[in-house]
Parts: sequence; C-alpha cells; structure tokens
Amino acid sequence: MSQQFKMLIGGEWRNSVDNEMFATRNPATQEVIAEVPLGKQEDIDLAVKAARKAFESCEWQEFLPYDRGKLLNKTAEVIRKYKEELAKFESLDTGKPLFQAEGDVEATARYFEYYAGVADKILGETIPISHDVIDYTVREPVGVTAHIVPWNYPLQIMARGTAAAIATGNTVVIKPAEDTPITALRLGAIMEEAGWPKGVFNVVTGYGEAGAALSNHPDVDHITFTGSVQTGSTVMQSAARNIKPVTLELGGKSPNIVFADSDQEDAINAVCTAIIQNAGQSCSAGSRLLIESSIYDSFIEKLKEKMEEITIGYGLNNPDLGPIISERQLTQIERFMKVAKEENARIVTGGARKTIAEYPNGFFFKPTIIDQVAADSTLAQDEIFGPVIVAFRFESEGEAIELANGTDYGLVAGIWTSEIKRAHRLGQKIRAGQIFINNYGVAGGVSMPFGGYKKSGFGREKGLEALNNYTQLKNVAIKL
Ligand code: NAD
Repeated sequence: MSQQFKMLIGGEWRNSVDNEMFATRNPATQEVIAEVPLGKQEDIDLAVKAARKAFESCEWQEFLPYDRGKLLNKTAEVIRKYKEELAKFESLDTGKPLFQAEGDVEATARYFEYYAGVADKILGETIPISHDVIDYTVREPVGVTAHIVPWNYPLQIMARGTAAAIATGNTVVIKPAEDTPITALRLGAIMEEAGWPKGVFNVVTGYGEAGAALSNHPDVDHITFTGSVQTGSTVMQSAARNIKPVTLELGGKSPNIVFADSDQEDAINAVCTAIIQNAGQSCSAGSRLLIESSIYDSFIEKLKEKMEEITIGYGLNNPDLGPIISERQLTQIERFMKVAKEENARIVTGGARKTIAEYPNGFFFKPTIIDQVAADSTLAQDEIFGPVIVAFRFESEGEAIELANGTDYGLVAGIWTSEIKRAHRLGQKIRAGQIFINNYGVAGGVSMPFGGYKKSGFGREKGLEALNNYTQLKNVAIKL
C-alpha cells in the first residue's frame, strides 16, 4: 500500500481543489511509493493568496530578523531529527544511492543553518550627500517568492532557494517536480514542527501545468526556476509579461580539463565521481572530458577500468550508481547513443541499458565513455543528463580553452594541472560560473555562489550572493 499525502497551503493540509491525485514511483522498480494531490491553477492561486496573507500579516511584518534566524536553526535541527526518513524517501523517489540522499539531507540542514546566520546581518549603507542630508539604504524582502524545483536534487534545490528567501523575510510557494514530490511535503511538515507561522511555507504538488500557473501568477514577486533551458525560457517569458524578476539555473555541459602535468589518479577519481554522482543527472555534471594528447590513451584506459568497476543497483542498497529517474529520461539517453552510432563515434564502454535480474523494471544505464566525436556535434553540445562522458583530445592550452568554451552552456569547469600560472590563466579564460582547480565540487558548495554563464542561466544561488535574489533595495533621504 502506498502512502497518501496532502499538500500544505496556508498552514492547512489539503487535497487539490478537484480532489485529483497522482502517483510517484520508484525508478528502480516502477512501484508506486506515494500518491499526492494533483495541484492546478486554482490550487496555486490559493497558495499564492495564503503566502501573500502571511507576508502582510502583522505577525510576519513584526517578526525580528534574529527570530527568523532562530527558527531557521530550529528547522535544521528538525531536519536532522528526521534525517533517516528524509534520506529514505529521497532515495526511493529519485532512485539515488542512499549515501547520496543522506548527503543531500545534511546539505539541506546546512542551507537552513547558513541562512540562519545571515538573517540578522542583511545590511544597508549610509551614503554621504551633504551636511544636512542623511541618506541610507535598506534591503527589504520582495514579498512572495515562487520556487519551481526539478527532480534531481529535490531537497537541496528547494532548501537553497527557500532558506535564503525566508531568511530575508519573504514567504514562499514551492512547486516540486512531478517525479519527486515527497520530500517537499515532508519539509512542509518539518517547517510546521519548527514553528513557522501559517502560510510562510506553501507546497503545491502537480505537473508542469501547476509550474506554469505559478510562474504566470501576477501576485508572485520573484521566481526561482531550476530545470531545462526550454522550460526556463517559458518561465522567463511569463515573468516578463508580469515584469517579475527571475533566477534561472538551467544545466550545463561542463568540462573537466586534464593536463599531462596533473595528478592523474586524483583526476580520474574526480572525473568518475563528477559523472556517476546522481547518475549524471546533475546540472553541474562533468559531462565533457578534455585530455591533453600525450596522456589521452592511458587516461581513457584507466577511466574505462574504473567505470567498469562501478556497482549499479537499487538506491537503498547503496550501489555507486542508481537508476535513471524515468523511462522518458532513459529513452532520451538512448537517443544520444543512437546518434553516437550514426556519427561513427567510439563507445569506449557502456552505451546501453543495464538489466538487473532482481529489478527487471528498473531504469538502469551503464556508465559510458564516448569519444571520436566532432566538437560541434549533438553529443558534444547537448546536455545528455545521464552517466555519459564525451571525451576529446587537445594538443595545446589554446585548443583546450576553445573546446571548453565551445558550447552554449557555462556552469562549471574543472581544471587539472600542477602549473599554477596555467591554472590561473584557464580560470580567467573559461566562461563558467564556477571554476574548480584540482578538484571538482569541493566542499559541497553551500556557501559558494553558484549559477551560470550563457544558457546555463543567470542570477546566483547559494552563499551570500543569493540574498540579492530575495531582497530589493530602498534608498531613504532625510533632509535635516
Ligand atoms: P523541466 O524543466 O521540464 O522541469 C523542471 C520543473 O519545471 C518541474 O517542477 C516541472 O514540473 C516544472 N515545469 C514544467 N513545465 C513548466 C512550465 N511550462 N512552466 C513552469 N514550470 C514548469 O525539466 P525536466 O523535464 O524535469 O528535465 C528535463 C531536462 O532539464 C533534463 O534533461 C536536464 O537537461 C534539465 N534539468 C536541469 C536541472 C538543473 O539542475 N539545472 C535539473 C533537472 C533537469
């Protein structure tokens, strides 16, 4: 028997207006894990109204920044209290290995703690004008913020936006992805237990229709969207109609650039993790590998060996690699394999579904390396969003930079070299929002500003930089 959930609007746990539900399934078995309300336009409208009412209430307007900080810390405490349950739901819903889901839960708690610390440190400035004018700025909340969340890191992506929005005094409406709605609803219950006023945190589950209703809503003051370029563009057009600001985080085709003078063992381990983590379904996945020609063959050979040792299986059994999120996503990866064959690319390893006798309905895909691909081909340019690396050979630093910058994306890049001057040169020349030198994704990134260049999006989440998304600046001039 699967569990049934309600959604959280204005502090009430409720069904959708028309009482429809939809099922969320385990991608390793296709079994139904839970049924959740199918929210639509009317439900979104109720949630936005509830968030507006909460925002304008005396209780919220008089809530001190220090008290928001205390409650954000309390939220982190309650998240940790339920860490096993949350990690289990996240692993079942996304398919990811339990240890990765546990890491996601800890990062979620860390976002609440990080923004707890800054809630009472959102400062303005005084501006010297003249001896009889006092001029100062204040950062005020924008009001009601909308958070449209994808299925790859449901908890983390929801937490990084909403913790920053609430720390700065906004109220929020969340639309989790239809493939992974459970932990957003559990976080709603956690917010309640932590003691937030009703209506500060609202969750409407549903499909893209609900996301569209939220991004089109005239009473939303800011939209944070993470997902595909195509949907991001639609969200931006809706926001433009209502003159609303947006923060877009839209994925990437991020390179790991390996020079012959690097520590190759470190590089191989990181290159492998950068594509295996979350089954390659990460916006920041290291999905392109650029290797200096003199070490190309040996590097690929060692990477192949490593990828072939990867264990694949059911998330709760803690394999290295879990299933792909859905049949739709798996089919999309297979389409890229067809292109590889048509274009006579070399599939060094993998390239096909993996069948596991115990989980015959699971969406498993083998870790894959493809090379001998033209730099302007679909495989080199498009986000595959699976455990698939496309590898290239380069002869010179200039060629490495050209290849690295040669896509429409610009989210992350990894540079592997022991030459400090070269590391800096590449760090400057690569057009991406985050550069990792001799690591890929060190320190988890809660406090590091994160976001894209080019079609990877704009605006920054995480770190102090995210506070700018959720505040607007007011200037006050006093004539003495
Ligand atoms: P998507 O962009 O369609 O969905 C993301 C979220 O947007 C979901 O909550 C969805 O319900 C909602 N949505 C769908 N249509 C909408 C609309 N018209 N208006 C407003 N919201 C809408 O992403 P997807 O289909 O789940 O994944 C497709 C691709 O997106 C992936 O292959 C990958 O390339 C990319 N992606 C990127 C990230 C990232 O972190 N940048 C995360 C997940 C997926």
